[in-house]
Amino acid sequence: MSLSRREVIKALGLLGAAGVLSSAPGARAATRAIPWRNWSGGQSCIPAARLAPASEEQLAAMIRDAVGTVRPVGSAHSFSPLVPTEGSIVSLANLSGMIRHDPARLQAEFWGGTPMSQMGPALKKIGQALPNMADIDYQTLAGAIATSTHGTGPRFGSYSTNVIGLRLVKADGEILDCDAGNHPEIFDAARVSLGSLGLITRVRLQNRKAFRVHRKEWVQDTEELLEQMPQLIKDNDHFEINTLLHSDVSIATAINETSDPRTIAKEPGGDVEKALMLSRVHREHRDSPRLYAMIVNFIARHLISFPEVIDDSYKVFANVRDVRFNEMEYEVPAAAGPACLREIVKKIRDQKLNSFIPIEYRYVKADQIPLSMFQGRDACAISVHQYFEMDHHNFFAQIEPIFWKYDGRPHWGKLHTLNARQLAPLYPRWKDFMAVRESLDPRGKFLNAHLRSIFGLS
Ligand SMILES: Cc1cc2nc3c(=O)[nH]c(=O)nc-3n(C[C@H](O)[C@H](O)[C@H](O)COP(=O)(O)OP(=O)(O)OC[C@H]3O[C@@H](n4cnc5c(N)ncnc54)[C@H](O)[C@@H]3O)c2cc1C
Repeated sequence: MSLSRREVIKALGLLGAAGVLSSAPGARAATRAIPWRNWSGGQSCIPAARLAPASEEQLAAMIRDAVGTVRPVGSAHSFSPLVPTEGSIVSLANLSGMIRHDPARLQAEFWGGTPMSQMGPALKKIGQALPNMADIDYQTLAGAIATSTHGTGPRFGSYSTNVIGLRLVKADGEILDCDAGNHPEIFDAARVSLGSLGLITRVRLQNRKAFRVHRKEWVQDTEELLEQMPQLIKDNDHFEINTLLHSDVSIATAINETSDPRTIAKEPGGDVEKALMLSRVHREHRDSPRLYAMIVNFIARHLISFPEVIDDSYKVFANVRDVRFNEMEYEVPAAAGPACLREIVKKIRDQKLNSFIPIEYRYVKADQIPLSMFQGRDACAISVHQYFEMDHHNFFAQIEPIFWKYDGRPHWGKLHTLNARQLAPLYPRWKDFMAVRESLDPRGKFLNAHLRSIFGLS
């Protein structure tokens, strides 16, 4: 039997194969109260209204006239409570697609509500591509940049760093275009703004020429990988590891640009039968850590197959995630990555912490965006996960102090317990952002309870 990486990760992710991904619960054109929940099911609310304007003018009027809090929503793929409100949730599902492009400069403008899954094919048609992509492409463009969503590769910044202009609909309904020459301080802040400055309706991106990539994956001892990490990230455009918990091994993934011809298509979705079998192994042996580790090591080393693939970049970067989970991710200074991962792995093993989804370990280039998790420093992004039907609180509470020890900044879209008192000192440009927010939305129309807590506003 030969199992693909996805099948194994999926099984270790505990499948409950019935936990099939429901399509994004975001957008419905409605003004009456319809319950809202995020992808993992960990966040929910019953807003007074769910709005989906058909134009920027309609959106401006809706924001101007709204009573109570207004929260923008994309594809609801954030784990943290950025969206929940008893006021209005506004989706740009009707403002989606490419608006225009500049073939000479390799730039393109999209509506903010465009699902990233539609951007790859649209850009391919005009010979362009995003320089790098996240682990999935279910997010919307405006939702992704709101939280500094990123992929991996120490020479690549988050999606927000590719933004060269945007249009913002403010709390008073004014429509504002901004870029490096036009309201530069607003542009700077709005590129990572958690939906707290207004609704971003249009985003202009600096892209690159369409390209193909070659993805290779293999299983290797985690310690060996960490020792070789400086060379691995130097030799590969995009490199990450997924560390299998309670085992000695990780799955390494290297993605590099190539001019070689396309090979096989990316493997299709997982095999439920094999995944169910592995899930049973987990359920039966999780109380015997040694045996469980042996089985995981054996499965990883001998039963996983890794079909190499060469294809269009956007088809290779994005994965299918059809097993739901909750996630905590911190960005630690790049040099601290290996030590931080070692400590997390040890803690999970020593404390016999109950989780099965691999730890994702990636690199992201520094930028200068005030609220970006990568502001001023190259970072290593480390994510821990818990299957959505299992309680994540104890697990994440055990791991989070390790991230603090390494000066980590939490991913805005993922779970953490910090408030403004702890967050502000982590961000040298905190005050720059807060000044822009105060000037654009002095009454806090776009603030829900979570944003008030992380921004320190009553
Ligand atoms: C399975 C899975 C895999 C993931 N993989 C990665 C990954 O590889 N890398 C990574 O960095 N993150 C990853 N994430 C996190 C995810 O990319 C971010 O949380 C992202 O912000 C979600 O985008 P969304 O469109 O779903 O927006 P939502 O979650 O709906 O909203 C996110 C934020 O954007 C704001 N927003 C949405 N639309 C607008 C708008 N038009 N104007 C202004 N603000 C707006 C919202 O108010 C909110 O603050 C993953 C999440 C999941 C569930």
